[in-house]
Amino acid sequence: MANQHFNLLIVGGGAAGVSVANNMHRRNSALSIAIIEPSAKHYYQPGFTIIGGGAYTLQQTTRNEADLIHPSVTWIQARATAFQPEANSVSIDAGADINYDYLVVCPGLQLDWGKIAGLKDTLGQNGVCSNYSAETVEYTWQCIQELVAKGSGTALFTQPPMPIKCAGAPQKIMYLTADRLRKHGILDKYTLEFCNAGPGLFGVPFFAKALSKVVADYGLKTNFSHNLIAIDGPNKTATFEVTDSEGNKQQISKSFDMIHVTPPQSAPDFIKQSPLANATGWVDVHERTLQHNKYPNIFGLGDAGSTPNAKTAAAVRKQVPTVVDNILHLLQQHAVTESYDGYGSCPLTTSLNTVMLAEFAYGGKVTPSFPFLDPRKNRLIWWWGKVSGFPWLYWSIMLKGYRIDIPHLESYARRFLDKE
Ligand SMILES: Cc1cc2nc3c(=O)[nH]c(=O)nc-3n(C[C@H](O)[C@H](O)[C@H](O)COP(=O)(O)OP(=O)(O)OC[C@H]3O[C@@H](n4cnc5c(N)ncnc54)[C@H](O)[C@@H]3O)c2cc1C
Repeated sequence: MANQHFNLLIVGGGAAGVSVANNMHRRNSALSIAIIEPSAKHYYQPGFTIIGGGAYTLQQTTRNEADLIHPSVTWIQARATAFQPEANSVSIDAGADINYDYLVVCPGLQLDWGKIAGLKDTLGQNGVCSNYSAETVEYTWQCIQELVAKGSGTALFTQPPMPIKCAGAPQKIMYLTADRLRKHGILDKYTLEFCNAGPGLFGVPFFAKALSKVVADYGLKTNFSHNLIAIDGPNKTATFEVTDSEGNKQQISKSFDMIHVTPPQSAPDFIKQSPLANATGWVDVHERTLQHNKYPNIFGLGDAGSTPNAKTAAAVRKQVPTVVDNILHLLQQHAVTESYDGYGSCPLTTSLNTVMLAEFAYGGKVTPSFPFLDPRKNRLIWWWGKVSGFPWLYWSIMLKGYRIDIPHLESYARRFLDKE
């Protein structure tokens, strides 16, 4: 493949990359734009939770990448391998360098399955499942059905150390499993345990409190500072490293009939090894402008970014206008603006027909989009949002490069915070 040059080059054609390309095309169609993306399929990952819970299909979350990218945007179907920011170029595995005026880096994050001993050998069998990839998500629903058929048993749901994408997802599938068992009238025959490497149910205390009521209502058991380190699939045993309040560590084993594993996650290796990474491996960008802290013509967003927001597609929706507008500002010799406030959202599926819609910004500020609704309530309307409204927002608005700016305000939450 010959070397090429584009005004805007984007690494990664997931939620962030396609949205930035199509949004930029709508704002300035004179710019030449290219996306480097190896995968022919694009997945709506927020739908994976409800596939695992048996309320959605993989087909409903899958589109051809080619159908999502505007025809005037060049799709380079390859994998980016290295960055030469001083030379404004990116190397790809097809053996070429692609040059740019502006670069947007958004290749998502890496699932580190190999960090849990034995997991790779047993994932997808022996009751070991995970909603975290398209290859494994359908097996979760099979495991839940087998659990129901058994009539009694133990199911474990694990959460690794942060950061991970959609920090609520490890517990959402537990609630869907519990509700499925409840609807069969057999929940009391089961032990369902949440085993989290972290210290609490959720990073934002306002929602953590509300979630502890959901946990109590189902009779679930929670274990904190429990980090999954090994799985023996054939013997159906999981090993955890448990840290006590003095920092002492010990290993304990738990038996299971089903275990839903959320794998450890990190920045992709080619980002970690690049000059674009910060000390922890993520694309080193300013929290509010999303501009690279060292290279002004480079921006980063989505799961690969160093910003301390919740890694969600909802965050991407708010980050895209910041990145696109700031590149346009630079093209017009204007200063970049600090317009991203750290917004992220997590629709917590608390049952098979209710969702608690957690919306928040930097510093754990609760920032709902709906002024009169208590965000801690489990609502049918937000379940509808989860299965219909949010997918529409994703496919038909965000990815197509349109913007809907629904304000999310701390003042909307104040009346509910005051009642705390
Ligand atoms: C189980 C689960 C539940 C979730 N639930 C929700 C939810 O309810 N709400 C919500 O808002 N978010 C949710 N998310 C998170 C959301 O899907 C992600 O935050 C979002 O997709 C991030 O967008 P991104 O573009 O940064 O990464 P991705 O969408 O993952 O896209 C990254 C792209 O980069 C490509 N890529 C990788 N390596 C390279 C390379 N070397 N060169 C070029 N391209 C590369 C990949 O192929 C991929 O297409 C969930 C995720 C999961 C897994």
